[in-house]
Amino acid sequence: MDENIGLFWLKEDFRIQKNLALAEATKNHSKVIAFYLYKKQKFQSQEAQKWWIYKSLEEFKKRLLNFNINLEIIKTDNYKAFFEKLFKRNGYSIYWNKTYEPDYLNFDKYLSKNFEDKKVKFKIFKGNILNEFNEVKKNDGNPFKVFTPYWRNAEKFYFEKMPYPEKKVLKCKSRTSFFKNTISEKYICPNKEWTNKFEKYWLPSEESALKELKKFIQLRIENYPNNRNYPNIIGTSKLSPFIKHGQIHVETIWNECSKFKKRTGINKFLAEIGWREFNHSLINNFPYMLKGNYSKKFDKFPWEKNLRFFSAWRKGLTGYPIVDAGMRELYATGWMHNRVRMIVGSFLVKHLLINWVEGEKYFRNSLLDYNEANNVSGWQWVAGCGADAAPYFRIFNPILQGEKFDKEGEYVKKWIPQLKNVPHKFIHKPWEFKNESILKLGKDYPMPIVVHEKARLKALNAFKKI
Ligand SMILES: Cc1cc2nc3c(=O)[nH]c(=O)nc-3n(C[C@H](O)[C@H](O)[C@H](O)COP(=O)(O)OP(=O)(O)OC[C@H]3O[C@@H](n4cnc5c(N)ncnc54)[C@H](O)[C@@H]3O)c2cc1C
Repeated sequence: MDENIGLFWLKEDFRIQKNLALAEATKNHSKVIAFYLYKKQKFQSQEAQKWWIYKSLEEFKKRLLNFNINLEIIKTDNYKAFFEKLFKRNGYSIYWNKTYEPDYLNFDKYLSKNFEDKKVKFKIFKGNILNEFNEVKKNDGNPFKVFTPYWRNAEKFYFEKMPYPEKKVLKCKSRTSFFKNTISEKYICPNKEWTNKFEKYWLPSEESALKELKKFIQLRIENYPNNRNYPNIIGTSKLSPFIKHGQIHVETIWNECSKFKKRTGINKFLAEIGWREFNHSLINNFPYMLKGNYSKKFDKFPWEKNLRFFSAWRKGLTGYPIVDAGMRELYATGWMHNRVRMIVGSFLVKHLLINWVEGEKYFRNSLLDYNEANNVSGWQWVAGCGADAAPYFRIFNPILQGEKFDKEGEYVKKWIPQLKNVPHKFIHKPWEFKNESILKLGKDYPMPIVVHEKARLKALNAFKKI
């Protein structure tokens, strides 16, 4: 046993199972401290996530006590400044799992160099991913830019490396403390009417992530390929915020799925996990796409600035029920169904001609599952400027999308109660419903802010310019 204290830097890995860095710290040290760095500035543009993190810290702190590990939370404006102070201390070794964002991976290089120079023992582990992003490459050594061949290779690569031995977190001999001026997780709690509503929908913990996964595999995975398209039913796993914050590792998901014999649903579900892997590979191989269009020809796209339209979109007041229901679901729950993310995204960039960057920022602030790789790639997929994206000229018709994927209007009525008595024939085009005793358009619910056909033609013309 190493006499030093083992430090575990907790980032997006609020779990005991498949937590390589934490397991290694407890194997090597009789005293371990977990620490979380809270950078307030970072969360100014990720408000919803503060709620999830606050809840996760509160819960994980208690769980770690069962292992005799204290979780210390430190507020810092600057990671570098924090670590520079740490470099001056001794009597510790440090462990953490990777986070697959270019800034974090670059920072790992900086830390490695400094810990080496200072002769501090440190170890960095694979994070919440199946394959390291640079492990899966084309035969010519270049990264994949198209999903299907990427996933074919990535799945095979992962499968051939299996099994991955489980490393267990061990109970430490005794508890200790290490940092001064620690803060309580309550400091991170956003204290807002908005985020308090999330309590109704989510229970951020490793235990509930595992429960949700098992329930999904038992009850829903078989019909996932079809049901995942319908926002009026729970057809998907709703695991995304748990995956984002590491309450569950994607390897655990893979393993649990492997036990299930009927493959159709499993294959489709794992392919979605594959999109997450693919997006992580994209942003790390082409980090410039985090700052703008992957496809450079979109740099000349004639986006429009229209604050009235943008505000109507954010508030769910565009007059297109499926779009508005999605935006209201997002505000109420911190999550939105994938089909509806595509519809609202397409509406913003194509019907309103607003740059996808604005939508990406709004989602970043509002999603509990916000994840740099998935959000930036998701938005560029919708806008047509990403790698392997939907072509720009494929413009979702919000009326037809609604009629196809929310036929009876159940989803719309759930989030827009003002429309609850509108017959389903009109539910996705309420402006055609002329019965003022049931719906006063412009008062109970807005008129459409743009006319679909006109907006479509305008978008196609704008696209011709590039
Ligand atoms: C404009 C836009 C923005 C998005 N932003 C995010 C984001 O910030 N964070 C995020 O996790 N996902 C994002 N997605 C992808 C997707 O919408 C969500 O992952 C999904 O809705 C989460 O619900 P679920 O857990 O029930 O998914 P399931 O269908 O149950 O899928 C299981 C897991 O696979 C992954 N996954 C599923 N669909 C996708 C996809 N299309 N791309 C990448 N990974 C996927 C997620 O980790 C998800 O939890 C975005 C999609 C779009 C179109």
